[in-house]
Amino acid sequence: MADEHLQTAVIHAGQSPEPVTGAVMPPVFQTSTYAQEWPAKHTGYEYARGDNPTRQALQRCVAALESAEHGIAFGSGLGATSTILQALPANAKVVGGDDLYGGTYRLFERIYRKRGMDFSYADFSQADPAEVIAEGTHLVWLETPTNPLLKVADVAAIAARCRAVGATLAVDNTFATPIFQRPIELGAHLVVHSTTKYLNGHSDVVGGIVLTSEPEWAEQLTFLQNASGAVPGPWDSWLTLRGVKTLAIRMAKHQENAQRIVAWLADHDEVERLHYPMWESDPGYALAKKQMSGFGGMISFVLRGDLARAERLVASTKLFTLAESLGGVESLIELPASMTHASVPPEQRAALGIDDGLIRLSVGIEHVGDLVADLQQAMDVSVRG
Ligand SMILES: *Cc1c(COP(=O)(O)O)cnc(C)c1O
Repeated sequence: MADEHLQTAVIHAGQSPEPVTGAVMPPVFQTSTYAQEWPAKHTGYEYARGDNPTRQALQRCVAALESAEHGIAFGSGLGATSTILQALPANAKVVGGDDLYGGTYRLFERIYRKRGMDFSYADFSQADPAEVIAEGTHLVWLETPTNPLLKVADVAAIAARCRAVGATLAVDNTFATPIFQRPIELGAHLVVHSTTKYLNGHSDVVGGIVLTSEPEWAEQLTFLQNASGAVPGPWDSWLTLRGVKTLAIRMAKHQENAQRIVAWLADHDEVERLHYPMWESDPGYALAKKQMSGFGGMISFVLRGDLARAERLVASTKLFTLAESLGGVESLIELPASMTHASVPPEQRAALGIDDGLIRLSVGIEHVGDLVADLQQAMDVSVRG
């Protein structure tokens, strides 16, 4: 993204008026196939698994936001991740973060391990990259900030180690978004998004995308997008493209609201621990300041007391909806131990620091006064019992 501000690029990058009608918004090209003038003489579009102009516009737009040359879109975030794994040798060595998105962990352990891949895990917020990324590693899979503890890892240092040993660094940038963090500028080879979350932003589409400037990866992933087939449809591509137009103003508002709520939680007697990387007392703050320009609406905190108390709180909010997922305009609340991270064994959750009382918020863009009032009344209910 060399010459435009992100606030401009979210609206214009990769898009120009449609040449036939002048339509300002790229149309939904709802077609599975394209007419050919003569056998194998066509416009460049043959069959919609291979390519679709609506999908193209989305791919070009998000690539520009992530300072990447190429975007390759998929039907879900996990479809994107799985396609990256398909490009690796069958016995590839992969090193992942220790509190990865649960579905990514399941994909690694229950599907690709069976096919011969080797997975190990490290706390990249603490570990020395040289110690955990051995020679012979093919892929490093990094989330920063992580989910749900929002731990921060040094992307540039990990990228340097990956380049030294010939490993590919993939960064899942779903939480930070390119508005606040651009891993390719820090040396990563691949950036992955669940566009289901902030990029689309309206909780009405499931989608994924990979961004890269590495020619070999772009070629492999474009081949696999068609050959393996986990593509997004034109409607979902269009909705996501529309969602991205407001990404910059949404993220600014998510951040503003989250900062207010973090300040309120930090002062609250019932809060035992608080996680938000762009908060001065957070252990990840210095690093977050160095490699990010802000952070959005994800907050997690541990409520004093037992699981029952935390359950009462998350069940008592009226504006915050009790639901998995994140990154939409509406505020959500959830209990990782019982919901998003229930598939992680209890001993492992304890080792990771995912306490029973850990509550995760995805702060939306409502009026923050209403959000704080809602949390306060739910807090009161949970304390009263
Ligand atoms: C949701 C999510 C995914 C998976 O994406 P889907 O679109 O649900 O397949 C991957 N990584 C992170 C950080 C997520 O939040």
